[in-house]
Amino acid sequence: MALRYLKKAPKTAATDAGETRRIVQKILDDIEQGGDEAARKYALELDKYDGDIVLTRDEIEAASAQVPQLLQDDIRFAHDNVQRFARAQRDSLRDFSVELIPGLTTGQRAIPCRSVGCYVPGGRYSHVASAIMTVTTAKVAGCQNITACSPPRPGVGINPAIIFTADLCGADRILSLGGVQGIAAMAYGLFGSAPADILVGPGNQFVAEAKRILFGRVGIDMFAGPTDSLILADAGADPMLVAADLVGQAEHGYNSPVWLLTDDQALANKVLALVPRLIADLPEVNRLNADAAWRDYAEVILCADREEMAAASDDYAPEHLTVQAADPDWWLNRLQCYGSLFLGEETTVAFGDKASGPNHVLPTSGAARYTGGLSVHKYMKLVTWQRATREGARPIAEATARISRLEGMEGHARTADIRLKKYFPGTSFD
Ligand code: NAD
Repeated sequence: MALRYLKKAPKTAATDAGETRRIVQKILDDIEQGGDEAARKYALELDKYDGDIVLTRDEIEAASAQVPQLLQDDIRFAHDNVQRFARAQRDSLRDFSVELIPGLTTGQRAIPCRSVGCYVPGGRYSHVASAIMTVTTAKVAGCQNITACSPPRPGVGINPAIIFTADLCGADRILSLGGVQGIAAMAYGLFGSAPADILVGPGNQFVAEAKRILFGRVGIDMFAGPTDSLILADAGADPMLVAADLVGQAEHGYNSPVWLLTDDQALANKVLALVPRLIADLPEVNRLNADAAWRDYAEVILCADREEMAAASDDYAPEHLTVQAADPDWWLNRLQCYGSLFLGEETTVAFGDKASGPNHVLPTSGAARYTGGLSVHKYMKLVTWQRATREGARPIAEATARISRLEGMEGHARTADIRLKKYFPGTSFD
């Protein structure tokens, strides 16, 4: 498929990967050797913070009291939606047992991980919503030991709204640590916490790389790097809404790609003209992020028709995918690679990011080709079991002995033989 680029990005998410890997590996090695003190050293160096790391109950109460009532209500509303969606996910996953042949019963159980580490990003913005998404979902899954960490602001610690939220959603422990040092503390079990079985949550490239390196030693939800978003829009789309949605997602960070695919040149031209105006109108910090993201990572592509738009979108496999085009059911059935789908102009990525219910921790950088986002299921291990009567064991043992001998595994074969001899003495088996 030869795409027609009206705007092509000079950079991709992979541009700085090598240097990030080197930095992160060194911090992880230092903290694994140096423990709590090494983590404190990096908190001071990178976040200019030398206060307490583990929040006490009094500190949590004091921070929560600083959060205005209306904001508390909004956070409770969002928490309630995320919790109800997560419960529906949990209920869709049922333990089962099945008798495969007479006398042989097998089954599956979903067992929650015991110890979870939730990363709540907080470098550029205070991602209250990430605390809702990660901690709530772990709690609904039934995890018993939930640690949350978030970057402290220089001298003062974590944003009080993040502390209130993590506590509301069910965190058992909150650490004032960001970046690689936060991830390392949860993985290695520093500051008195249990080592995490699984690390979850979004973060910048350093956080994502730390999780990637630690995967295997701990589980991770996914490789979630800088956020990315794609909009599919046709001639009927409102150019101002399309432009506003692109800018809204570009403000995530200087390296957050946004892409527009359309089959209408007039719409593309209007959006291309509107986006710089909307960016120029943002407050400074947001403007700098959105401006860099738009300049370096954004793309606008003109497609021949909606089928080409859908195929190209699946190749991008965006984290967030918005459809502002006619016939939403056609798109719902056709599209295959995305983290979360937003159908129609009445909803938007920011709704899902903050409050609507489906999780906002989603696969980035093309990972939507092979995984969905954070869900109750990511915290659950699907384990299996089996039991048999002696009659049920008989055909299994006979087949096992023969397959094992074919493979050259005599010890395996004899575990079957010994049972056949015990349960059916006097019978000869070949
Ligand atoms: P962050 O909390 O991820 O990172 C801040 C930390 O980065 C700091 O604590 C610091 O220790 C570390 N750091 C900064 N510079 C460093 C350096 N040079 N070397 C080593 N460590 C360094 O916050 P952020 O930077 O604002 O990034 C948040 C990210 O999370 C964004 O990329 C955003 O797109 C993403 N996000 C994604 C989702 C999602 O669902 N996909 C949701 C919210 C946020």
